[in-house]
Amino acid sequence: MLNGAALQSLLARHGRTQVTAALRGHLDDLRRSALAGTLDSTELHEAAMAEVLEAKLIEAARPRLRPVFNLTGTVLHTNLGRAVLPESAVRAVANSMRAPVNLEFDLASGRRGERDTVVEELLCELTGAEAATVVNNNAAAVLLILSVLAARREVIVSRGELIEIGGAFRMPDIMRQAGAKLVEVGTTNRTHLADYADAIGARTALLMKVHTSNYVISGFTNSVAVAELAELGRTRSVALAVDLGSGSLVDLARWRLPREPTVSESVLAGADLVSFSADKLLGGPQAGLIVGRADLIAKLRKHPLKRALRVGKLTLAALEPVLALYRTPEFLAERLVTLRQLTRPAAAMQDQAVRLRPLVQRSIGDAYEVTDAPMFSQIGSGALPVEQLPSHGLAIRTAKGKRGGLDRLEALMRGLARPVIGRAAEKTLWLDLRCLEASDEAEFVAQWGELRQ
Ligand SMILES: *Cc1c(COP(=O)(O)O)cnc(C)c1O
Repeated sequence: MLNGAALQSLLARHGRTQVTAALRGHLDDLRRSALAGTLDSTELHEAAMAEVLEAKLIEAARPRLRPVFNLTGTVLHTNLGRAVLPESAVRAVANSMRAPVNLEFDLASGRRGERDTVVEELLCELTGAEAATVVNNNAAAVLLILSVLAARREVIVSRGELIEIGGAFRMPDIMRQAGAKLVEVGTTNRTHLADYADAIGARTALLMKVHTSNYVISGFTNSVAVAELAELGRTRSVALAVDLGSGSLVDLARWRLPREPTVSESVLAGADLVSFSADKLLGGPQAGLIVGRADLIAKLRKHPLKRALRVGKLTLAALEPVLALYRTPEFLAERLVTLRQLTRPAAAMQDQAVRLRPLVQRSIGDAYEVTDAPMFSQIGSGALPVEQLPSHGLAIRTAKGKRGGLDRLEALMRGLARPVIGRAAEKTLWLDLRCLEASDEAEFVAQWGELRQ
């Protein structure tokens, strides 16, 4: 078979190893159907076998990690990789892969450098902090802070802030993992400064304030502000660490988005360390950023766990240009993809929905009814969970009297060259167009003809 004419082009494209393995697998299948008496003799034609092999080889060579269209309405979708990066970051990452870089090499002195310096100055400029360090994600940042500053000692946290982020990140678990003893104070809905003050003792290592990213406690509530906790910490010589979660670098109210506490507010209010994610509202690559007091950052940096949690050059290459965008906030809503998508006016999505509706209707056929409809997007990744952004898109329902299943349609859309991911709810498949930017629309349009019914 391998020497036959039909397989030569497959051998040239996929190599002998892959073709031989696929051929053996296919011959086993054919042998099984022959023994079962179900083999059709045309399946043994060389050309027919080559066709089957080609399909198998192409499928096996297809990357598992692929671009998709995020029409879920959740801009920072953790399962879809959170923030989409600006082109400047994409270029920087590509450059850092093509050539050696001065990752830990000080070009001024010619001596060994520290990889944090790639972004430390920018982080300090943007947050007002003295020093900064970078780890793999915010979960790692919290683990590092607790392990280095609070192992075998106590950390005081409000009962209203003992969060579970999802994906097994729970504050009490991470404390245990770090070897720190969690001291809960206050109640679920109300915690006062005196609760913290009364709990401070000889074994207290840290006061910790955690941003309640993905839930809201409302009604009869009280929590203690960073400034008050910092003041208490100073008078009792206990450091204050703030886990900000999303940690915006700018006040989003400037773009009429819901307000999220900024990193510089926490720094200014006196927090000793502030940790936050780089791929949530910040709009960068996955990383955990820690800013704060220089002596504490130096301690974190010296610990072996920092070595284990450090980021690679690709992350730093992407992070630097993203942070640099914040130096010119005037252009941020245009250049930072996350903010651009979050601030897209509903009217833009509505125009797009009206334009795209007939095309989608034609492609999926009359078993379904497609309408353009108002809907609400979410920021996602735990940021401002109760806030919704007015948006527009397509709503797909089974047509009256027809039996087009939405599950089946969703599966077909996931099978497209660039899978389209929507959101199913209320017997409707919602395609929120907020994240379908103009530059992507041609690709979106082109592939609908391939939707196989
Ligand atoms: C998201 C979040 C984390 C985890 O951050 P990752 O970057 O996803 O690891 C930790 N704490 C809070 C408050 C968060 O919102």
